[in-house]
Amino acid sequence: MFDINEIREQFPILGEKVYGKPLIYFDNGATTHRPRRVIEKMDEYYYKYNSNVHRGVHYLSNKCTDANEEAREVVRGFINAASTKEIIFTRGTTESINLVAYTFSEAFLHPGDEVLVTEMEHHANIVPWQMACERKGATLKVIPFNEQGELDLSNLDSLITAKTKILGIAYVSNVLGTVNPVAELIKKAHAVGAKVLVDAAQAIPHIPVDVQALDCDFLAFSGHKIYGPTGVGILYGKESLLEQLPPWHGGGEMIKTVTFAKTTYNELPFKFEAGTPDFIGIIGLGEALKFVSEIGMSDIRAHELALLNYAHSELAKIDGMRFYGTATEKSGAISFLVGDIHPFDLGTLLDHMGVAVRTGQLCAEPVMQHYGINGLVRASLGVYNTEQEVDVLVKSIKRAAAMF
Ligand code: PLP
Repeated sequence: MFDINEIREQFPILGEKVYGKPLIYFDNGATTHRPRRVIEKMDEYYYKYNSNVHRGVHYLSNKCTDANEEAREVVRGFINAASTKEIIFTRGTTESINLVAYTFSEAFLHPGDEVLVTEMEHHANIVPWQMACERKGATLKVIPFNEQGELDLSNLDSLITAKTKILGIAYVSNVLGTVNPVAELIKKAHAVGAKVLVDAAQAIPHIPVDVQALDCDFLAFSGHKIYGPTGVGILYGKESLLEQLPPWHGGGEMIKTVTFAKTTYNELPFKFEAGTPDFIGIIGLGEALKFVSEIGMSDIRAHELALLNYAHSELAKIDGMRFYGTATEKSGAISFLVGDIHPFDLGTLLDHMGVAVRTGQLCAEPVMQHYGINGLVRASLGVYNTEQEVDVLVKSIKRAAAMF
């Protein structure tokens, strides 16, 4: 059973005060907090076992190597990948997308080809593709979204064509909270022979993700957005496709043999893991995924959806409230402006009341351009947030608004 108090007790930081007030944290879209068991697991490995992975014959190295590979199996199971060969450890979503944008474009992108993204992407799923298109003489195309913040698929047939080589799409928008119809778009893309990379940075902590059910070709996420450590992320890729991509970073671990005449490369997933990985972070991520799995992703989704609906209805009662992103299928984030109050001013006042929200362009400038605004305030939910906290958020916004 979902016991919110028991969940909250596992997060030491939630007991902290800011400016003498209890911390109310609604910036989970930027990063989540870590439960005690994740911090303790990492501490345990630093205190007792720390040693480089995949290299040693000694006890400590074997201990860390085993834990590193166990975490890979936890990730595989969590997203239902077919094999651990398909799970590549990276530094985060950004690095995962860059890896694909670079290697995929080296292998498959030619002048005149097209790469498709959506108008609601985070910069991390725009810029690497722009760079790839520039290098290869390809063109970047964009699926627009409508006023509610839902993808406008009315011209899809002219956007997904035989020229399309890959679609990069957010499963959940970090600004609008929209849950995109990725399964449907993957089918459409596959019908013309295009591949699909799903940016699951904002989906992974909120909704169950099954890469085989989606049939996506690549999927990226970050550990720190799902109660795990910073500095570690995941790239999932279909084995057959990863086999066809050239290596990215060169160095130790990604090689089979090295001579000055020729280097041969390691098998998957190590071909894409040059150098010492953040193995303690990886072990921490495995623990974080166990934590959410034990609660149950479906229960987390149900809790957060109820909270999202409650927050929308309570926030809507505030004079001058304008929501950005009112899609039917939503998760995680509520972005808004109140009257003509600048988002930075509102965010700063809320901060002094102990309420942490994100303000600004949210690494999605094209979304701001769509609405003709300079920035937004975003409240993003996590597993530990409560209705009482939403009430404080609403009260604090009203207090702040009254100061203007
Ligand atoms: N994609 C989306 C949708 C995001 O929300 C974020 C971070 O906010 C990223 C990518 C980048 O994640 P990271 O900074 O962990 O690489």
